[in-house]
Amino acid sequence: MAHIHTPIPSLKLNDGASVPMLAYGTGTAWFKSGEGSEIDKTLIDSIKTAIKLEYYHLDGAEVYKTEPELGSAIKESGIARDKLFVTTKVMFGVSDIAKAIKTSLEKLQLDYVDLYLIHAPFFFKSDEEMQKAWAAMEQVKVDGLAKTIGVSNYLPKHLETTLKTAKIPPAVNQIEFHPYLQHKDLLDFHKKHNIATFAYGPLTALTKAAPGPVDDYIAALSTKYAVNPAEIFLRWCIDQDVVPVTTSGKEQRLSDYLRCATFKLTPKEIQEINDLGDQKHYRAFFKDKFAAD
Ligand code: NDP
Repeated sequence: MAHIHTPIPSLKLNDGASVPMLAYGTGTAWFKSGEGSEIDKTLIDSIKTAIKLEYYHLDGAEVYKTEPELGSAIKESGIARDKLFVTTKVMFGVSDIAKAIKTSLEKLQLDYVDLYLIHAPFFFKSDEEMQKAWAAMEQVKVDGLAKTIGVSNYLPKHLETTLKTAKIPPAVNQIEFHPYLQHKDLLDFHKKHNIATFAYGPLTALTKAAPGPVDDYIAALSTKYAVNPAEIFLRWCIDQDVVPVTTSGKEQRLSDYLRCATFKLTPKEIQEINDLGDQKHYRAFFKDKFAAD
């Protein structure tokens, strides 16, 4: 019998594409730091479990070295390609994006990805390089190898540089986002330019930055909505039109996360989390790269 749960809402992107507002990530805990030639069967099984639970938004990246696992899991799951929203990102290959996308697609055993992202702006030595890379991303979209193109870890200054010469604006910026890193200026910029915010590390306040000022209030909301704190953090993203990208190696947790679709936070509750979150600043990823910002 099919798994029964409240469907995950979708978000419309600036190019008309529709994206499920909860993603299963294949980085962080799954990241392969070595050469990565050995296939991680545990990851393949976990992705298949996620797909079975109806996680149709799958987040990968060249640098995680887990594209082969993502590709195998999609194939073995037997899911129709058009049901999935598959992302990958370019990092090492940023100087030759036309080649990098082909390598990624080969590893993924796919003809196209739904979303292709420049993983970070740190690898560009000049504005011209960044703009050239974006032009290469536009060509990837024109060639049909990615339905949607975007960026990750960009600040307003990087987006401004990109937009100056862009023919197609980025549809997405995937950033670290949680109550202790709310990026208010960046989110305002996104709204103004119709760029969707995707949140990685959405559970950071629970997993890495605890204890902290939001804990007691999140616990009270968990009781009110009869869910785990994780689901409150995921819903806090969704209710602000932000798409959370989480992960877990545990089926029970993946199943529980889906409960974020069963309730809505009130505007007052969102504001309270934001106010409490403002009392602490915490960045889990790329601390050195953002030291000056
Ligand atoms: P989250 O903040 O959602 O954390 C997920 C992790 O939290 C899982 O490993 C899970 O572990 C753990 N967890 C969940 N609930 C609990 C709990 N109650 N107690 C303790 N641990 C818990 O996201 P991540 O930081 O892992 O990032 C998610 C994805 O985002 C990545 O896989 C990647 O795809 C993407 N990403 C993108 C980046 C970028 O630069 N664009 C950078 C970083 C991530 P368990 O397996 O034990 O359940």
